[in-house]
Amino acid sequence: MVTRRDLIKSAGVGALAIGLSSKPVLAAAERVVKMEAMLPPPKGNRVVVCGGGWGGLTVAKYLKKEDPNIEVILIEKRPNFFSCPISNEWLADMVSLDFISHDYNQPAAKYGYRFINQAVIGIDREKKRVYTPNGYIEYNYLVLAPGIRYNYAAWFKDDKELARIAKTKYPAAFIPGSEHLALKRKINEFEEGDFIITVPPGAYRCPPAPYERACMIAEVFKRNKVKGRVIVLDPKGDIAPKGPGFRTAFEQVYLGIIEYVPNATIKEVDPVKKVIKTTAGDFKFADANLVPPQQAGELVWMADLIAKNPEGAPTGWADQDPLTFQAKADPNVFLVGDVISPALGTPYPKSGHMANSQGKVVAKVIASRIAGKPIKPGMPENVCYSMVNGTPQEAIVISVTYRHDEKENKILPSPRTINERSQALAKATYEWARAMYKDMFS
Ligand SMILES: Cc1cc2nc3c(=O)[nH]c(=O)nc-3n(C[C@H](O)[C@H](O)[C@H](O)COP(=O)(O)OP(=O)(O)OC[C@H]3O[C@@H](n4cnc5c(N)ncnc54)[C@H](O)[C@@H]3O)c2cc1C
Repeated sequence: MVTRRDLIKSAGVGALAIGLSSKPVLAAAERVVKMEAMLPPPKGNRVVVCGGGWGGLTVAKYLKKEDPNIEVILIEKRPNFFSCPISNEWLADMVSLDFISHDYNQPAAKYGYRFINQAVIGIDREKKRVYTPNGYIEYNYLVLAPGIRYNYAAWFKDDKELARIAKTKYPAAFIPGSEHLALKRKINEFEEGDFIITVPPGAYRCPPAPYERACMIAEVFKRNKVKGRVIVLDPKGDIAPKGPGFRTAFEQVYLGIIEYVPNATIKEVDPVKKVIKTTAGDFKFADANLVPPQQAGELVWMADLIAKNPEGAPTGWADQDPLTFQAKADPNVFLVGDVISPALGTPYPKSGHMANSQGKVVAKVIASRIAGKPIKPGMPENVCYSMVNGTPQEAIVISVTYRHDEKENKILPSPRTINERSQALAKATYEWARAMYKDMFS
């Protein structure tokens, strides 16, 4: 249950919350967090989708396509969409910012859903309400698609100052926005020495992204004739997925520029002294892209829908049915995209293609529920291209289909990987991205 104090705190006005007894301060706080309804209660079936990324945008559009009578509201905190897919290519100036940025109003107007540019700051599942600083919105069904959050506490425990330094000086750029701009400026201004990229342990957004990013940063260093190396610190024993494709690119295209370090589990990160201690040795860096461990986005925690391990501790990821994406604890809530649990027989990678594909499944499931029809969820799929050379542009790819083995009650992946890099796959990368943006935005 959310309280006024929780809401004020989560709206980022904790200082005001301290002064709740003082009338003028309370008045100011209430201007930030309105406790009244922002919209009238739903007349028919209202689905509120929180998070307008790859998953949420797809649910909103496809719900309206399934049934135009469903009232669909998409709440997103950013004013415009910035794509993580293809952002590595953008780092190396292979595409413009325009290619990966999109406008939220166009698809909302075209498909007839309502776009609200607000942050969700509270969720009350009992009352079926979602809170924004401008008041609450009631729902019949709720879709949570907030993506990931960084877990700096895994590195720094309670030391918020060290976490702040790591986040601001060496941004991860795994959540779209200004961190990407900072990273691009860094690599363009890099003069010499070792530039470290950390691969997070456990489940994280886009498993091949750190390796693709290493290639694209190495491409910039090569182009700028910088005396620098890109050091990839990986807790895994080997690169995955597309291991052979990345390895040959590291050894053939970027020999002497990229150094891959396997079995490098991080023991300590010191963003002040610029040292990372790992099980594969200690590394000093001139600059870095420190990508921390990750968890499901804040909204899933707020809704109390995080899966627990057998000991009862939070796993960090959402607890959903792997076929319908319905929250196990609440039949009126659906969890989509990167938030979903990698355990519990759900081998889905955290990718944009996968989030988009799940979004279509969830739209069908909710529309069937509303129509009182039997639910026959389809299986999502995944396709992921990675650019591994900039001159000429060459890429590799993995595509995966999934099958539900009813007897074993398991989801079985069938992957197909092309590790031989080619210009044809580089062209296909951009065709894929164009088709995905078109699917979500026009
Ligand atoms: C460098 C990089 C490269 C990648 N390359 C690829 C690729 O080539 N192919 C591929 O398929 N995937 C790729 N990915 C992965 C892809 O970006 C993610 O898997 C995808 O974005 C997940 O979609 P999502 O909807 O779960 O989350 P997101 O797309 O992150 O969307 C979540 C949205 O929720 C919003 N939100 C969060 N909290 C709130 C709140 N409180 N109130 C309102 N809104 C909120 C966020 O602002 C965000 O817009 C890449 C990722 C990275 C980092």
